Amino acid sequence: MITDAYTVNQLKKEAPVFGQLSFDDHEQIVFCQDKDTGLNAIIGVHNTILGPALGGTRMYDYATEWDALNDVLRLSRGMTYKAAITGLNLGGGKAVIIGDPKKIKTEALMKRFGEFVHTLGGTYYTAEDVGMETSDMDTVREVTPYVTGISESKGGAGNPSAVTAYGVYMGMKASAKYVYSKDTLEGKKILVEGIGHVGEELVKLVSSEGAQVIISDIDEDKLHKVSTKYNTTIYRGDDFYAETADIYAPCALGATITTKTIDSLKVKIIAGAANNQLENENVHGVSLQKKGIVYAPDFLINAGGIINVYAEIEGYGRNQIIEKTENIYTTTLDILTKAKVLGITTNAAALSIAEERIMNKKMKK
Ligand code: NAD
Repeated sequence: MITDAYTVNQLKKEAPVFGQLSFDDHEQIVFCQDKDTGLNAIIGVHNTILGPALGGTRMYDYATEWDALNDVLRLSRGMTYKAAITGLNLGGGKAVIIGDPKKIKTEALMKRFGEFVHTLGGTYYTAEDVGMETSDMDTVREVTPYVTGISESKGGAGNPSAVTAYGVYMGMKASAKYVYSKDTLEGKKILVEGIGHVGEELVKLVSSEGAQVIISDIDEDKLHKVSTKYNTTIYRGDDFYAETADIYAPCALGATITTKTIDSLKVKIIAGAANNQLENENVHGVSLQKKGIVYAPDFLINAGGIINVYAEIEGYGRNQIIEKTENIYTTTLDILTKAKVLGITTNAAALSIAEERIMNKKMKK
């Protein structure tokens, strides 16, 4: 039997870069190194047909450089579709910096990274992602204008995480409406995995609506802080994915929806903030569909952040940010319905709308 792991490993050997599913016509991949500051980064520019590529920078202690490359390719491709489905005139890009932010992140390293972003001349705009703070974007802003997500005091739209969480909340409510005919989350049992910037905001929103929230994180301090603040339960069992609940909200890293976790899952809905939740979008989208779990596509419902940072480029204000983020509710319902009518996965339904928008623009060029 050919397993997912076998396929991925074989592909890495036989077609290590261009043959990866995630390479998918990337326009540019830039490797950035600076020995003085310890910077090792990769910038992926997937597609700029709709506009400049925008996507955050993730700083993470990857096990191997392959993992970092694969992550940036998957993430930047996802950004193309996120911008397209949200109706923004942006392309898709992303950057990763290899290393533990707690150990190697310095102002000098962030500035050097910003200089590399600057060399792309506005083809790529960066922002925050995992391992980054608004203050890091302020540092990058000192060397390049091609950065978003800077502090409000410096003329930016601030950290996008609260808006991202609000968009996920909209997508979650739309999914509840689709499954239970009512969009209230009151009394619903929700598993939130990862209570960082976005996860904590999501916990706040769903708890205030009366949901029963179970949280999981690798950071004990955060677990205690969030459980005390919002009166939520910390998960202490052996298999988080096997917990019976209504909704699973992945808000840590991606690729948690795998053949193994789908076997365990006992939820009706998956709706969370993490990028690239499906380990393999072709295989695992179908497995979820077969199991009858409604999957709200990640790149659709976590678009609040990009809507927030795009305001810095387009110059729109708070009201429009909220309005565009609330549209995620309607788009989610439309896509879940479209997928059912056409008998396709929700991910495929969302992708087809995004691809159509990009294709239309390409034809007009
Ligand atoms: P964050 O770094 O603030 O939070 C991530 C949290 O996940 C941390 O608390 C971390 O301890 C926890 N975590 C890591 N590995 C874990 C594991 N194996 N199990 C449980 N918890 C684990 O990041 P964030 O900004 O909150 O982003 C969360 C996710 O949402 C990421 O995948 C990110 O790409 C995606 N996302 C974020 C934004 C945004 O605006 N910040 C926008 C779109 C998508």
